[in-house]
Amino acid sequence: MQITKDTAVTLHYKLTDLATGQGLDAGHTAYLHGGYDGIFPRIEQALEGQAVGHATAVELAIEEAFGPRDESLVLTIPRSEFPPGVKVGGRLQRVGDDGQPRVYHVVKIKGPQVHLDGNHPLAGKALRFACKVTEVRPATAEEISHRHVHGGHGHHH
Ligand code: ZN
Repeated sequence: MQITKDTAVTLHYKLTDLATGQGLDAGHTAYLHGGYDGIFPRIEQALEGQAVGHATAVELAIEEAFGPRDESLVLTIPRSEFPPGVKVGGRLQRVGDDGQPRVYHVVKIKGPQVHLDGNHPLAGKALRFACKVTEVRPATAEEISHRHVHGGHGHHH
């Protein structure tokens, strides 16, 4: 079956940093095809009308991937404001200057200070997304109403 609107698509993918060639992530992902923001729009375009076994690679500019870094999201906060057990590499949610909750990554703990970064870890990077289609099936009515794929490599809830 072909990938068209309202099909559930499973991909094996490999994500690399376009500038350095460094591997960033690899695995399987499933998404609902047809403009549901389940995956980067450029990848949906590349897969439209394709079927199981199709392989492609898309190069994503920074703006097409996770956007440029925003240095205003880099914060230094007193360690005393944090629950015990905060570790480098951990994440926590706090309300940003814009009043919206945002996930911050703990990048460094230095003495009494914790350095946080609210940018997506892949912000500021151009990416290469290589993938191979491993499954295509019609999405269920429930998946379409939820705007995402369930089970397997999709959402579990
Ligand atoms: Zn759901």
